[in-house]
Amino acid sequence: MNCIFCEIIEKQRPAQIIYEDEHVIAFEDIHPQAPVHVLVIPKKHIPTSLDIQDEDNDLIGYLFQTANKIAKEKRIAGRGFRLVMNSNREAGQTVFHIHLHLLGGRIMHWPPG
Ligand code: 5GP
Ligand code: ZN
Repeated sequence: MNCIFCEIIEKQRPAQIIYEDEHVIAFEDIHPQAPVHVLVIPKKHIPTSLDIQDEDNDLIGYLFQTANKIAKEKRIAGRGFRLVMNSNREAGQTVFHIHLHLLGGRIMHWPPG
């Protein structure tokens, strides 16, 4: 399988990993769009949000809980932060292994671009 995030999970590609356990891994985005820009991903290869199955429901909840924990650790939880998951081309998804973008440390605008 040709997936750069699976390569990061397998330690075949370098990344600034800030959290890891048996289910999820979180690392700094290589092109940060905010002072805090962390990607939180499941270790299971799921291409898009459309591919999430019933059996993944606990995993997806845990993905959000992990993002919340990192937001607290980065001291942006109270200020505010944004969790984004892009799905397919028009949303701008470029890596087809689901990931939550954890963005914060600046004022976020709405609607998003
Ligand atoms: P998407 O566009 O799929 O929602 O988000 C993919 C994200 O992955 C982008 O924000 C991009 O900067 C990031 N990214 C792409 N390749 C790498 C990489 O090799 N290492 C890291 N740390 N981030 C990457
Ligand atoms: Zn993958």
